[in-house]
Amino acid sequence: MTVEEQSRPSMRTGAIVKSQFDIAADLVGLEPYMRRLLRSPFRSVAVEVPVRMDDGRIEVYRGYRIQHNGARGPCKGGIRFHAEADEDEVLGLATTMTWKTALVDIPFGGAKGGVQVDPRQLSKRELEAVTRTFTNRIAIVLGPYRDIPAPDMGTDQQVMAWLLDEYSKRSGYSPAVVTGKPISLGGSLGREEATGQGLRYCMEAYARDFDLPIEDSRVVIQGFGNVGAHLARLLHDAGARVVAVSDIDGGLHNDGGLDVPRLFEHAYAQRKPVPEFPGGDRITNDEIWRVACDWLIPAALGGVINEDGNAKALDCKVIVEAANSPTTPIADKILTERNITVLPDFLMNSGGVIVSYFEWVQNLQQQPWSLDKVNEELHRKITAAYRMVRDLVNKEHVTWRTAAYAIALTRVAEAEQLRGH
Ligand code: NAD
Repeated sequence: MTVEEQSRPSMRTGAIVKSQFDIAADLVGLEPYMRRLLRSPFRSVAVEVPVRMDDGRIEVYRGYRIQHNGARGPCKGGIRFHAEADEDEVLGLATTMTWKTALVDIPFGGAKGGVQVDPRQLSKRELEAVTRTFTNRIAIVLGPYRDIPAPDMGTDQQVMAWLLDEYSKRSGYSPAVVTGKPISLGGSLGREEATGQGLRYCMEAYARDFDLPIEDSRVVIQGFGNVGAHLARLLHDAGARVVAVSDIDGGLHNDGGLDVPRLFEHAYAQRKPVPEFPGGDRITNDEIWRVACDWLIPAALGGVINEDGNAKALDCKVIVEAANSPTTPIADKILTERNITVLPDFLMNSGGVIVSYFEWVQNLQQQPWSLDKVNEELHRKITAAYRMVRDLVNKEHVTWRTAAYAIALTRVAEAEQLRGH
């Protein structure tokens, strides 16, 4: 299948990740056997998750834990509860985790889990039952030195606490088997906002290098959840003008800049729809792509920047990929031709897994870190990766995504070879 055929507007994460891998594998001249090894998962576990619902029925959900690669360390990646978390989607996300952990040089491989369920349709008791049954059925492949889950879309600290409890019943108290836990169960300070914080550090570094100061710059963000809301707050504090944001219910636009602290309280803390906030003009989820800005930040879904219209129409200088796989491969080409820089997901949104790594270290050492130490180490780790990618971009005149892939693929392939494969 050509890139063109694969890159339909409806392209999902799995297909985007596979297509990008093929481009990068050609670039670094990966041998055919290594290509096969890194294209497919090391281990894929599919389970049925039967749950007694509140009305007495038994519902059966499909669940997956896919370990893409563990050459550089235990597998690491979130668990997603979402109706569309099928095998292909979970594999794509697991694969991205391998490149992410390698690029930012933390001693983990890549994994992802998913249960095909809409958590909004579950009561709290049903959600707990799904979590405990799923954990039991995949526990055999988990472990602090084997595979360490974390939250993802549709799961949160509470879900991680149930997972920890269920796993610990079998194996003894094991806080290092999962990250993104509540602080009182061994979670790390700074984990909740870590992805937004990492994005901000990279944007600040880019701003200095390419003379695009954050202060007074115009920012548009799609998605106002964990990543989008925290990043909006951090950029607002740094002096940026956040001129438009959206969530699943629609968007809001204010050319003078939205009142982000109040919007954060309304839409993130109180979970109210973004368009109901009184400080701007309502816009649709399509109109947000036409708002002129310096930084355009997709922070919701995969495949949203595509060749079916918006890639040609975007009016921005830089696209900051906060979501996983927001840009299709053809859109990527169009944006390169239009001279719009795309800063790739597995560099930009790696702050979450970096602080998850710190959480794991703190659990193993039984020694909590201060918030200052977490943020200092996050800054050091993510800006080191940023600089490596930037230097390769400057040296080889390739895109940021290509440079990031070249570094990550080479590291993973080297680890596989040294292990004798
Ligand atoms: P979240 O569930 O907290 O928030 C998602 C946001 O997107 C919500 O505001 C939701 O209303 C909005 N949204 C959903 N559909 C939309 C649509 N059609 N149009 C506009 N907005 C829409 O999720 P999150 O944790 O913020 O994750 C967002 C993205 O970032 C995902 O792609 C996720 O995989 C990626 N990511 C998250 C983390 C993390 O630490 N949370 C780390 C790395 C990558």
